[in-house]
Amino acid sequence: MSFPSSDAFSTPFTTATASAVLDAHGWDERWEAEFAPYADQGLVPGRVLRVDRGQCDLITATGTVRADTAFVTPHDPLRVICTGDWAAVETSGNPRYVKACLPRRTAIVRSTSSQRSEGQILAANVDHAVIAVSLAVEVDLGRIERFLALAWESGALPLVVLTKADLVPDPVVLAHLVQDVEATAPGVTVLTVSSHNGEGLDVLRAVTAGGTTVLLGVSGAGKSTLANALLGEDVMDVHATRDVDGKGRHTTTTRNLLLLPGGGVLIDTPGLRGVGLWDAATGVGQVFSEIEDHAGHCRFQDCAHEAEPGCAVLAAVESGELSERRLDSYRKLLRENQRIVAKTDARLRAEIRRDWKMKSAEGRANHAAKRGRA
Ligand code: ZN
Repeated sequence: MSFPSSDAFSTPFTTATASAVLDAHGWDERWEAEFAPYADQGLVPGRVLRVDRGQCDLITATGTVRADTAFVTPHDPLRVICTGDWAAVETSGNPRYVKACLPRRTAIVRSTSSQRSEGQILAANVDHAVIAVSLAVEVDLGRIERFLALAWESGALPLVVLTKADLVPDPVVLAHLVQDVEATAPGVTVLTVSSHNGEGLDVLRAVTAGGTTVLLGVSGAGKSTLANALLGEDVMDVHATRDVDGKGRHTTTTRNLLLLPGGGVLIDTPGLRGVGLWDAATGVGQVFSEIEDHAGHCRFQDCAHEAEPGCAVLAAVESGELSERRLDSYRKLLRENQRIVAKTDARLRAEIRRDWKMKSAEGRANHAAKRGRA
């Protein structure tokens, strides 16, 4: 029976259209290769658009489906299915089931609370982590450093976006603000945008046009306005987001993955009151790369940069090359990170790390290469 059925004639472009839907959501040859064993089992690939209690919405080649997440909700909160995950879905039954998640390339993780020190995945398979910072209030450099550590650690490339730039009419003041932020974010692009007059949005659109972008920031940072500007419509008001903020891993965690009109996808996270680091030593090192560079020149290899003779870090503070605020912030984040690491099960961390650490290193190498070319 080599002759195509009448069904095939009536929908001749189905396969191409279906693959276009997945491609638009980030599907590529590597995902296809990862998915091959599941395809053999008759499962279909889908990307998680949002997760609700025990269920999730996924985009598949034939459209959006809702599926039960019982098979992908293990005890380990870092392995629970999350927005941005690629998954293998059994679509034949009722209810439908997500049977497995493909290994994540990157993952944005924070700690849920200082008491429990559990990691919480905010988004998976993210390429660009946009950290929104409002210029309407005093810029908190320490908080930016904290978000940057989280972003670098995830394996995604961070980007700082200063929003509400129209509220700083004095160009000299604005330039100083940007300079301060740039100094806290070595190797990171700092953009100034105003959703009010559209300034800077073209650049942001160009950056987010490929791959998956996540918006991070505290409440009031202008994330929703930024999302609406990128999406070209008021989508964020329609999808109510609920912040769980440490109230437990089984609470509803709605995060939305949306298609950008210029290509690429956007994941919005709820406004975070604070972000706790979760095993982000590498990320912290990346944020404070210039301090780690200085540290390489200290006389003692185990120098704590407190009062040791021949300390290159203290010498840099002395000469004014390095600000004391920056060194304090570095120490604070390192201490916080060490506390979290001490509390968390080592085996679990090693397992999680294995999943995306290689990709993280790869991302940093690519980023360094890009910077080298610029
Ligand atoms: Zn030192």
